[in-house]
Amino acid sequence: MATLDIKNLHVSVETEAGPKPILHGVDLTVSDGEVHAIMGPNGSGKSTLAYAVAGHPKYTITDGSVTLDGVDILSMTVDERARAGLFLAMQYPVEVPGVSVANFLRTAKTAIDGEAPKLRTWVKDVNQAMGQVNLDASFGQRNVNEGFSGGEKKRHEIVQLELLNPAFAILDETDSGLDIDALRIVSDGVNRFSGQGDRGVLLITHYTRILRYIKPDKVHVFVGGRVAESGGAELADRLEAEGYDRYLKAGEVSAPAGAGN
Ligand code: ADP
Ligand code: MG
Repeated sequence: MATLDIKNLHVSVETEAGPKPILHGVDLTVSDGEVHAIMGPNGSGKSTLAYAVAGHPKYTITDGSVTLDGVDILSMTVDERARAGLFLAMQYPVEVPGVSVANFLRTAKTAIDGEAPKLRTWVKDVNQAMGQVNLDASFGQRNVNEGFSGGEKKRHEIVQLELLNPAFAILDETDSGLDIDALRIVSDGVNRFSGQGDRGVLLITHYTRILRYIKPDKVHVFVGGRVAESGGAELADRLEAEGYDRYLKAGEVSAPAGAGN
């Protein structure tokens, strides 16, 4: 089971000049086992939505609710959210100097399961997960995200997804910076994950090309800190043809008070 329910979500980001409102009432329900794509122009608040749901301290919820299978997650710490089954692949994954991939994965797995994984099966699982995204076993000895290429960062996220096996994954621009082969490898990983049937995915993307490989149940157009339109997979085709102009022009007329301050 994994239903993510976002209602009337208002979020501000902490800046030096004070809190800046970014999300202006996001409504979104990803039902059990569904894959939804969020598409929108740069600066529309897509990453802010991902961070707010994951519990990044810089983002303050000023109104609204987020539940995972009916359980309020906004009152949880970041760790509690992860243990509740929520996974975020960040648009710009951070470097963790001095921590190897192998250690990082094992520590994360232990934290989420509440016990260390059995060593023999774990090593096999890690090697298999890395092999599936064409990463060499020696990758495990590298420091997390240090000097990783764009493709390595995103494939590492898929390894995490595979091993941690969360109930719900938010993938922020998992397709950015990937060449066509890496895009297919990463998409296959997402499809393996969602193909388990009861896993939810919120796929945030700027471009439609990843949607050739991952077929979303629903597509949401995100503009000006809220969902401007929702539809089926065909909505992505229309965006491919028309871009976001139409929504941006409409947004100029009906921009929410306080937006852009
Ligand atoms: P997207 O992911 O859709 O490109 P973001 O959520 O990254 O959009 O950003 C939305 C808006 O919020 C942008 O105008 C951005 O400049 C602003 N913003 C996001 N994070 C911060 C921050 N930490 N400090 C200042 N402004 C921010
Ligand atoms: Mg972003």
